[in-house]
Amino acid sequence: MYRIFSNLLMAITVLGILSVPVFAQKGHKIKVLIIDGQNNHSNWPQTTKMMKAYLEETGLFAVDIATTPPHGTSMESFNPDFEKYKAVVMNYNGDDWSQSTQQAFEKYMRSGGGMVSVHAADNAFPKWTEYNKMIGLGGWGNRNEKDGPYVYYDSTGKLVRDNSPGVGGSHGTFHAFRIDMRDKNHPITRGVPDSWMHNKDELYDRLRGPAEHMTILASAYSAKEERGTGRDEPIMMVISYDKGRIFHTTLGHANESQQCTGFITFLQRGVEWAATGKVTQKLPADFPGKDEIRIRK
Ligand code: ZN
Repeated sequence: MYRIFSNLLMAITVLGILSVPVFAQKGHKIKVLIIDGQNNHSNWPQTTKMMKAYLEETGLFAVDIATTPPHGTSMESFNPDFEKYKAVVMNYNGDDWSQSTQQAFEKYMRSGGGMVSVHAADNAFPKWTEYNKMIGLGGWGNRNEKDGPYVYYDSTGKLVRDNSPGVGGSHGTFHAFRIDMRDKNHPITRGVPDSWMHNKDELYDRLRGPAEHMTILASAYSAKEERGTGRDEPIMMVISYDKGRIFHTTLGHANESQQCTGFITFLQRGVEWAATGKVTQKLPADFPGKDEIRIRK
């Protein structure tokens, strides 16, 4: 009996010793999944490739891609193993996933998963209640007052939740615009200058949604001359969904929008924070200036 016990103890000890260095291994990469496959932005195959490269060049992430079946076909075969990943990047705006895949994603997020919503991913799934809680704000897809308030800053800088009826989601011209940081105490925004110029993009406005447990990190002035709202619109936010963390950027319409070093920096930091709750990355030397656009080709 003693011998069996001592062998067992030894086995546990050996396993214990072996397993510690594996988990503590240096250079252990954070596993990230990009989801694409359908999007009203036909450049999605390129933006997926670009985002995968931006993430992997940090040395922090190992990125897989899950591509759904094409629009109008059965989604039953699309059921990625979310639990294998610390964060899921949504580069998707298309058909509803199957009930079981939606439920698996909700469970993943509730139990502490990470999600990053990029540009038109906040147009997706207008009828999926839990998804809309995760993104905080969304647009298009017949979104209106039934989906939640408009959220913006008024001319005095006060944050407004506006329940007036109207369409959710629009944008003016494709143009370069300045981003103003609203919260610089978050791990994602620490050390970022107060304002910086973003390369040409769509400035999403009039988004609506539940906007619960949401902190706006950055806004941009949506100028009337650019066919905007004349309001300071939320551009980047973080949302908590039970134990899950979400970083939402409305930026990233065109390839050139995603070449902006500001977009890249926030993608890299946003994914790390969604995955781990921390950001270890320094601000890059080529981060945009207050009046200066910076891009990486
Ligand atoms: Zn767009």
